[in-house]
This record gives sequence, structure tokens and C-alpha cells, in this order.
Amino acid sequence: MNCWTFLSVIRRKMVKKNHHGGSKTLGKLFQFYLPTKTHRIYSCLHCRAQLASHDELISKSFQGSQGRAYLFNSVVNVNTSAAEERVLLTGLHEVADVYCDCCKTLLGWKYEHAFESSQKYKEGKFIIELVHMIKDNGWDDENIDESEYLKK
Ligand SMILES: [Zn+2]
Repeated sequence: MNCWTFLSVIRRKMVKKNHHGGSKTLGKLFQFYLPTKTHRIYSCLHCRAQLASHDELISKSFQGSQGRAYLFNSVVNVNTSAAEERVLLTGLHEVADVYCDCCKTLLGWKYEHAFESSQKYKEGKFIIELVHMIKDNGWDDENIDESEYLKK
């Protein structure tokens, strides 16, 4: 592939913490690209739009409707629906559905509001179901997890 041609069409933008994803502010023409120094990226399984950096991953131990789901601090290239109250395993929350902005697949949900103090840490964070994600470039985080585990 001709990298220079490829790079010239990429619109790069740093992803700031607590920026709540979404390319809404960028308009529909541009996909959001994560910084190139971020090598460990999760992408949409269906259209390969970038979704999140591994650095933004908070927890892998969430349960979605289709199995395992990951909690991210921030994601990109998504749109959210209007929030509504739902009773989840961990109590009442106000959540919004999260869709891929490129292929419109329902990917997960966003915690807009948690009513119990023990769940407040999830507010403004995103759940993406594992079944909708691939690791860009086939990177492997198993070794990373193990080293983190061994440190404790
Ligand atoms: Zn997609």
C-alpha cells in the first residue's frame, strides 16, 4: 500500500480523556483516528472503524447481551441514542445505546447516570461487547495481562 496516499486522507486528532467519543462534532465525512503511537486498538468487527485504544480500557469483566463486554473510558466513531432508565445486574442506571457511527451496528451502551454510589465510577463510560470488536493489526494482550497480574 502507498502509505503517503493513505496518510494524506487520514484526519488525526488526539483523543482526550473524558471526551465522550463520537464524531458528531466532526461531521459525517471523517472517521476519527486514534494517535498512531497507539498500537493496541480495538476496531469495529463489521466495518473496521477504530473504536477504542487499549489504554482507555478500564475493565474486561462486564457482561453484555452477547457475552463478555469491555468498559472503556472513551471511544470514538460512535453515536448514542437518548438515555433511558434500565435495571441492570448492578442496579438502576440511566443508559444510552451505543452504535457504530460508520456501519450503525449496535455495539453496547453508555452509562449516563448511576443511582448507587458504588456504581458512580461508570458514569460517562462506554461498554462495547467483545463480539463486535477486533484487535487492529492482530496484537495480543495476553502477555500484557500476565505481566500486570504478576506485578501484583
Ligand atoms: Zn462499524
